[in-house]
Amino acid sequence: MLLSRRAFLASAAATASGSRFAVPLRVSVADEPRRGLPLTLGVMIWRIGDLLEFDEQVAWVGGAGFESLGFHAARGGRNWRGIEPADTDAAERRRIRKLIAPFSQCEIHAPFDAQLSANTPEKVLLRLERVLQFASDVGVSVVTVHADHPPPLDDNAATGNWHQALDRLDKAAEKTKVRIGIEFYSGFEWLRKPRRDWVGATLDVGHMYFDHMPGYRPWNTIGGQIRYLDDLLFHLHLHDNTGTVDHIEIGTGKVDWDDTLQGLAGIGYRGSMILEPNPDRVAPEGIRRSAAFLRQRVRELDLNV
Ligand SMILES: [Zn+2]
Repeated sequence: MLLSRRAFLASAAATASGSRFAVPLRVSVADEPRRGLPLTLGVMIWRIGDLLEFDEQVAWVGGAGFESLGFHAARGGRNWRGIEPADTDAAERRRIRKLIAPFSQCEIHAPFDAQLSANTPEKVLLRLERVLQFASDVGVSVVTVHADHPPPLDDNAATGNWHQALDRLDKAAEKTKVRIGIEFYSGFEWLRKPRRDWVGATLDVGHMYFDHMPGYRPWNTIGGQIRYLDDLLFHLHLHDNTGTVDHIEIGTGKVDWDDTLQGLAGIGYRGSMILEPNPDRVAPEGIRRSAAFLRQRVRELDLNV
Protein backbone atom coordinates (compact mmCIF):
# COMPACT_ATOMS: atom_id res chain seq x y z
CA MET A 1 0.00 0.00 0.00
CA LEU A 2 1.32 3.38 -0.87
CA LEU A 3 1.06 5.97 1.84
CA SER A 4 1.38 9.69 1.27
CA ARG A 5 4.05 11.34 3.37
CA ARG A 6 1.34 12.96 5.47
CA ALA A 7 -0.56 9.69 6.01
CA PHE A 8 2.71 7.94 6.84
CA LEU A 9 3.61 10.53 9.47
CA ALA A 10 0.12 10.37 10.96
CA SER A 11 0.17 6.60 11.19
CA ALA A 12 3.71 6.65 12.63
CA ALA A 13 2.58 9.14 15.27
CA ALA A 14 -0.44 6.99 16.12
CA THR A 15 1.80 3.94 16.56
CA ALA A 16 4.31 5.87 18.66
CA SER A 17 1.62 7.18 20.99
CA GLY A 18 0.16 3.70 21.28
CA SER A 19 -3.25 5.01 20.42
CA ARG A 20 -5.49 5.23 17.38
CA PHE A 21 -6.22 8.78 18.41
CA ALA A 22 -3.03 10.50 17.47
CA VAL A 23 -2.41 14.10 18.33
CA PRO A 24 -2.93 15.95 15.02
CA LEU A 25 0.40 16.78 13.45
CA ARG A 26 1.17 20.26 12.36
CA VAL A 27 1.35 20.05 8.57
CA SER A 28 4.25 22.04 7.23
CA VAL A 29 4.27 23.83 3.90
CA ALA A 30 6.46 21.06 2.49
CA ASP A 31 3.70 18.53 3.18
CA GLU A 32 1.04 20.41 1.22
CA PRO A 33 -0.10 18.56 -1.87
CA ARG A 34 1.81 19.98 -4.83
CA ARG A 35 -0.29 22.12 -7.08
CA GLY A 36 0.66 24.19 -10.05
CA LEU A 37 -0.16 27.81 -10.65
CA PRO A 38 -1.65 28.81 -13.99
CA LEU A 39 -0.59 32.39 -14.73
CA THR A 40 -3.32 34.60 -16.13
CA LEU A 41 -1.39 37.86 -16.16
CA GLY A 42 -2.86 41.22 -17.05
CA VAL A 43 -2.16 44.94 -16.83
CA MET A 44 -4.21 47.71 -15.24
CA ILE A 45 -4.98 50.25 -17.93
CA TRP A 46 -4.10 53.77 -16.87
CA ARG A 47 -1.21 55.05 -18.91
CA ILE A 48 1.41 52.99 -20.70
CA GLY A 49 4.47 55.04 -21.61
CA ASP A 50 3.03 58.13 -23.28
CA LEU A 51 -0.63 58.85 -22.79
CA LEU A 52 -2.53 56.33 -24.91
CA GLU A 53 -6.28 56.26 -25.44
CA PHE A 54 -8.21 53.42 -23.84
CA ASP A 55 -8.46 51.30 -27.01
CA GLU A 56 -4.74 51.79 -27.75
CA GLN A 57 -3.87 50.56 -24.27
CA VAL A 58 -6.05 47.48 -24.74
CA ALA A 59 -4.16 46.78 -27.99
CA TRP A 60 -0.80 47.21 -26.24
CA VAL A 61 -1.74 44.79 -23.44
CA GLY A 62 -2.80 42.14 -25.97
CA GLY A 63 0.25 42.75 -28.15
CA ALA A 64 2.56 42.30 -25.16
CA GLY A 65 1.19 38.79 -24.62
CA PHE A 66 -1.03 39.35 -21.58
CA GLU A 67 -4.11 37.19 -21.05
CA SER A 68 -6.13 39.59 -18.90
CA LEU A 69 -6.61 43.28 -18.15
CA GLY A 70 -8.11 45.70 -15.68
CA PHE A 71 -9.39 49.24 -16.08
CA HIS A 72 -10.88 52.03 -14.00
CA ALA A 73 -14.57 52.90 -14.07
CA ALA A 74 -13.74 56.59 -14.30
CA ARG A 75 -13.07 58.95 -17.18
CA GLY A 76 -9.43 59.49 -16.36
CA GLY A 77 -7.56 62.72 -16.19
CA ARG A 78 -4.75 64.69 -17.74
CA ASN A 79 -2.42 61.69 -17.49
CA TRP A 80 -4.55 58.59 -17.74
CA ARG A 81 -7.61 57.01 -19.29
CA GLY A 82 -10.47 54.87 -18.02
CA ILE A 83 -14.15 54.46 -18.89
CA GLU A 84 -16.90 56.29 -17.01
CA PRO A 85 -19.95 53.98 -17.04
CA ALA A 86 -22.34 56.96 -17.25
CA ASP A 87 -20.71 57.91 -20.59
CA THR A 88 -21.60 54.57 -22.18
CA ASP A 89 -24.87 53.63 -23.82
CA ALA A 90 -25.89 50.06 -24.72
CA ALA A 91 -24.06 50.19 -28.08
CA GLU A 92 -20.82 51.41 -26.47
CA ARG A 93 -21.06 48.68 -23.85
CA ARG A 94 -21.41 46.08 -26.60
CA ARG A 95 -18.38 47.59 -28.34
CA ILE A 96 -16.25 47.44 -25.17
CA ARG A 97 -17.41 43.88 -24.52
CA LYS A 98 -16.18 42.86 -27.96
CA LEU A 99 -12.92 44.79 -27.56
CA ILE A 100 -11.96 42.99 -24.34
CA ALA A 101 -13.47 39.60 -25.24
CA PRO A 102 -10.04 38.09 -26.11
CA PHE A 103 -8.99 38.58 -22.45
CA SER A 104 -10.16 36.38 -19.60
CA GLN A 105 -11.11 37.27 -16.03
CA CYS A 106 -10.98 41.01 -16.58
CA GLU A 107 -11.32 43.46 -13.72
CA ILE A 108 -12.89 46.85 -13.22
CA HIS A 109 -11.43 49.08 -10.54
CA ALA A 110 -14.24 51.07 -8.92
CA PRO A 111 -13.61 54.84 -8.67
CA PHE A 112 -11.33 55.79 -5.79
CA ASP A 113 -13.96 58.09 -4.31
CA ALA A 114 -16.54 55.26 -4.29
CA GLN A 115 -14.96 53.42 -1.41
CA LEU A 116 -16.28 51.52 1.56
CA SER A 117 -15.81 53.04 4.98
CA ALA A 118 -17.19 52.64 8.47
CA ASN A 119 -20.06 54.80 7.24
CA THR A 120 -20.51 54.32 3.50
CA PRO A 121 -22.95 56.93 2.13
CA GLU A 122 -25.97 55.89 0.06
CA LYS A 123 -24.70 57.67 -3.04
CA VAL A 124 -21.51 55.58 -2.97
CA LEU A 125 -23.51 52.34 -2.78
CA LEU A 126 -25.68 53.45 -5.71
CA ARG A 127 -22.57 54.25 -7.72
CA LEU A 128 -21.03 50.87 -6.94
CA GLU A 129 -24.26 49.13 -8.00
CA ARG A 130 -24.03 50.94 -11.33
CA VAL A 131 -20.40 49.88 -11.71
CA LEU A 132 -21.42 46.25 -11.11
CA GLN A 133 -24.12 46.49 -13.80
CA PHE A 134 -21.61 48.05 -16.20
CA ALA A 135 -19.11 45.27 -15.44
CA SER A 136 -21.75 42.68 -16.19
CA ASP A 137 -22.70 44.42 -19.46
CA VAL A 138 -19.09 44.45 -20.72
CA GLY A 139 -18.26 40.91 -19.57
CA VAL A 140 -15.98 41.72 -16.63
CA SER A 141 -15.88 39.15 -13.82
CA VAL A 142 -14.57 41.08 -10.81
CA VAL A 143 -14.91 44.63 -9.47
CA THR A 144 -12.31 45.90 -7.00
CA VAL A 145 -13.57 48.26 -4.31
CA HIS A 146 -11.29 50.08 -1.91
CA ALA A 147 -12.04 49.95 1.81
CA ASP A 148 -10.92 52.91 3.86
CA HIS A 149 -10.67 52.29 7.59
CA PRO A 150 -13.19 49.54 8.19
CA PRO A 151 -14.55 49.77 11.74
CA PRO A 152 -12.59 47.97 14.46
CA LEU A 153 -13.56 44.29 14.63
CA ASP A 154 -14.60 44.45 18.27
CA ASP A 155 -16.59 47.68 18.03
CA ASN A 156 -20.13 46.33 17.75
CA ALA A 157 -21.75 49.74 17.87
CA ALA A 158 -19.83 50.92 14.82
CA THR A 159 -20.40 47.96 12.54
CA GLY A 160 -24.07 48.28 11.59
CA ASN A 161 -23.55 50.43 8.51
CA TRP A 162 -20.54 48.37 7.45
CA HIS A 163 -22.56 45.14 7.45
CA GLN A 164 -25.51 46.75 5.69
CA ALA A 165 -23.22 48.03 2.94
CA LEU A 166 -21.59 44.63 2.43
CA ASP A 167 -24.96 42.82 2.45
CA ARG A 168 -26.30 45.18 -0.16
CA LEU A 169 -23.25 44.84 -2.41
CA ASP A 170 -23.31 41.06 -1.99
CA LYS A 171 -26.89 41.06 -3.32
CA ALA A 172 -26.04 43.36 -6.22
CA ALA A 173 -23.02 41.22 -7.08
CA GLU A 174 -25.09 38.05 -7.04
CA LYS A 175 -27.70 39.66 -9.29
CA THR A 176 -25.10 40.77 -11.84
CA LYS A 177 -22.90 37.68 -11.38
CA VAL A 178 -19.85 39.90 -10.91
CA ARG A 179 -17.68 39.20 -7.86
CA ILE A 180 -16.48 41.98 -5.57
CA GLY A 181 -12.87 42.03 -4.38
CA ILE A 182 -12.36 44.43 -1.49
CA GLU A 183 -8.93 45.99 -1.50
CA PHE A 184 -7.96 46.29 2.17
CA TYR A 185 -4.78 47.49 3.83
CA SER A 186 -6.04 45.87 7.01
CA GLY A 187 -9.30 44.37 8.25
CA PHE A 188 -9.20 41.22 6.07
CA GLU A 189 -10.77 39.36 9.00
CA TRP A 190 -14.05 41.09 8.17
CA LEU A 191 -14.47 38.82 5.16
CA ARG A 192 -15.33 35.92 7.44
CA LYS A 193 -17.59 37.79 9.88
CA PRO A 194 -19.82 36.64 8.29
CA ARG A 195 -18.71 35.12 5.03
CA ARG A 196 -20.57 36.38 1.96
CA ASP A 197 -20.56 34.41 -1.29
CA TRP A 198 -19.94 37.34 -3.65
CA VAL A 199 -17.60 39.47 -1.54
CA GLY A 200 -13.94 38.49 -1.17
CA ALA A 201 -10.54 40.15 -1.39
CA THR A 202 -8.50 41.79 -4.07
CA LEU A 203 -5.09 41.38 -2.45
CA ASP A 204 -2.72 44.15 -3.46
CA VAL A 205 0.54 42.33 -2.76
CA GLY A 206 2.76 45.40 -3.16
CA HIS A 207 0.67 47.36 -0.65
CA MET A 208 1.36 44.72 2.02
CA TYR A 209 5.05 45.73 2.02
CA PHE A 210 5.06 49.24 3.45
CA ASP A 211 7.74 49.32 6.16
CA HIS A 212 5.52 51.29 8.54
CA MET A 213 2.62 48.81 8.37
CA PRO A 214 3.30 45.45 6.72
CA GLY A 215 -0.19 44.16 5.93
CA TYR A 216 0.85 40.51 6.18
CA ARG A 217 2.11 40.93 9.77
CA PRO A 218 -0.84 39.12 11.46
CA TRP A 219 0.13 36.04 9.42
CA ASN A 220 3.95 36.55 9.58
CA THR A 221 4.50 36.17 5.82
CA ILE A 222 2.73 37.04 2.59
CA GLY A 223 2.36 33.30 1.95
CA GLY A 224 0.66 32.94 5.33
CA GLN A 225 -1.69 35.77 4.49
CA ILE A 226 -2.59 34.18 1.15
CA ARG A 227 -3.29 30.85 2.88
CA TYR A 228 -5.47 32.66 5.42
CA LEU A 229 -7.54 34.26 2.63
CA ASP A 230 -7.75 30.94 0.76
CA ASP A 231 -10.89 30.80 -1.39
CA LEU A 232 -11.85 34.33 -0.34
CA LEU A 233 -8.94 35.56 -2.45
CA PHE A 234 -10.84 36.57 -5.58
CA HIS A 235 -8.29 38.74 -7.34
CA LEU A 236 -4.74 40.12 -7.26
CA HIS A 237 -2.92 43.39 -7.90
CA LEU A 238 0.83 42.96 -8.36
CA HIS A 239 3.60 45.54 -8.12
CA ASP A 240 6.78 45.82 -6.10
CA ASN A 241 7.58 48.10 -3.18
CA THR A 242 10.88 49.34 -1.70
CA GLY A 243 9.15 49.70 1.66
CA THR A 244 8.43 53.35 0.98
CA VAL A 245 7.90 53.54 -2.81
CA ASP A 246 5.27 51.24 -4.33
CA HIS A 247 3.98 50.40 -7.82
CA ILE A 248 7.52 49.75 -9.10
CA GLU A 249 8.78 47.01 -11.43
CA ILE A 250 8.27 43.47 -10.12
CA GLY A 251 11.50 41.92 -8.89
CA THR A 252 13.11 45.24 -7.97
CA GLY A 253 11.64 45.73 -4.47
CA LYS A 254 11.08 43.90 -1.21
CA VAL A 255 8.15 41.65 -2.11
CA ASP A 256 8.87 37.96 -1.55
CA TRP A 257 7.58 36.73 -4.89
CA ASP A 258 8.57 33.09 -4.35
CA ASP A 259 6.51 32.96 -1.15
CA THR A 260 3.65 34.75 -2.94
CA LEU A 261 3.63 32.31 -5.86
CA GLN A 262 3.98 29.24 -3.64
CA GLY A 263 1.15 30.50 -1.43
CA LEU A 264 -1.07 30.98 -4.48
CA ALA A 265 -0.24 27.51 -5.77
CA GLY A 266 -0.94 26.10 -2.30
CA ILE A 267 -4.51 27.45 -2.23
CA GLY A 268 -5.15 26.48 -5.85
CA TYR A 269 -5.60 30.12 -6.96
CA ARG A 270 -7.21 30.31 -10.39
CA GLY A 271 -7.99 34.03 -10.76
CA SER A 272 -6.12 36.54 -12.86
CA MET A 273 -3.19 38.65 -11.67
CA ILE A 274 -3.18 42.28 -12.70
CA LEU A 275 0.10 44.21 -12.81
CA GLU A 276 -0.31 47.72 -11.47
CA PRO A 277 2.80 49.65 -12.49
CA ASN A 278 2.97 53.39 -11.89
CA PRO A 279 3.75 54.75 -15.38
CA ASP A 280 6.02 57.41 -13.84
CA ARG A 281 8.15 54.63 -12.30
CA VAL A 282 7.85 51.81 -14.83
CA ALA A 283 8.39 52.16 -18.59
CA PRO A 284 6.58 49.79 -21.00
CA GLU A 285 9.72 47.60 -21.08
CA GLY A 286 9.50 47.30 -17.29
CA ILE A 287 5.94 45.97 -17.61
CA ARG A 288 7.18 43.26 -19.98
CA ARG A 289 10.10 42.48 -17.65
CA SER A 290 7.70 42.22 -14.68
CA ALA A 291 5.68 39.56 -16.49
CA ALA A 292 8.82 37.73 -17.63
CA PHE A 293 10.11 37.74 -14.03
CA LEU A 294 6.92 36.10 -12.73
CA ARG A 295 6.81 33.54 -15.53
CA GLN A 296 10.44 32.61 -14.85
CA ARG A 297 9.90 32.27 -11.08
CA VAL A 298 6.91 29.98 -11.74
CA ARG A 299 9.10 27.82 -14.00
CA GLU A 300 12.01 27.71 -11.55
CA LEU A 301 9.73 26.91 -8.61
CA ASP A 302 8.33 24.07 -10.71
CA LEU A 303 4.80 25.46 -10.46
CA ASN A 304 4.06 25.27 -14.18
CA VAL A 305 0.82 23.55 -15.08
ZN1 LIG B 1 -4.20 47.94 -6.23
